[in-house]
Amino acid sequence: MSLIYIAEPYDRTAEATVFEASPAGIRLDRTVFYPTGGGQPGDTGWIRWPGGACPIVDTVKGAPLVTQGVDVLHIPAPGESLPEPGIPVTLELDWERRHRHMRMHTTLHLLCAVVDGAVTGGQVGAERSRLDFDVPGDSLDRNEIEEELNRLIAGDHPVRRVTITDAELAARPDLVRTMSVKPPTGAGTVSLLRIGSSDSLIDLQPCGGTHVARTGEIGPVEVVKIENKGRQNRRVVVALRE
Ligand SMILES: [Zn+2]
Repeated sequence: MSLIYIAEPYDRTAEATVFEASPAGIRLDRTVFYPTGGGQPGDTGWIRWPGGACPIVDTVKGAPLVTQGVDVLHIPAPGESLPEPGIPVTLELDWERRHRHMRMHTTLHLLCAVVDGAVTGGQVGAERSRLDFDVPGDSLDRNEIEEELNRLIAGDHPVRRVTITDAELAARPDLVRTMSVKPPTGAGTVSLLRIGSSDSLIDLQPCGGTHVARTGEIGPVEVVKIENKGRQNRRVVVALRE
């Protein structure tokens, strides 16, 4: 299974071949559909073939396959006709929804950089997204966070996937200090999502989600509310303004 969205998050269509198809899910040789994971919802859209089409209502990870890595299941709408195994199909994302996920997901990375505290949870949504922080009392100011987020967005900083070696990471403990999630090492290299440049770093995290290429593409955001979810746990809820 070739996962096109990792290197090419802006690809909204692709040609693929069907491995198998049942009401429980459609397996393909390659996909642009992001499967639910890392707090980002699975993609929706359509699979089309000569003489047929099937709406896809969700995308999830199937059983992990030892030889093929991530297994992606495209969930068909109930009662729809399914493509035959072996036939070529055209994949098409609900791009408006996915692009909102990319904008919101990138916003949450900026929120990590703005709020000084360990992240304990989070969820990306097309309308609203949230991150939970382990911070005390009333230390978070809604207006301040919103202003800082919009300043970083307007700065139009580059967002890149970068790969560094375990040795490079070990030689730069300052990089790890900015991360709320420690990268897994031992494979020789670590894949990270970087916002800003290497000498002017805004956020650096191990992350497998989809993001916009520059922060300016997010557009203005609003901090809707900051909720008290128990001692040392504050939930910051953000929304896109347009
Ligand atoms: Zn991410």
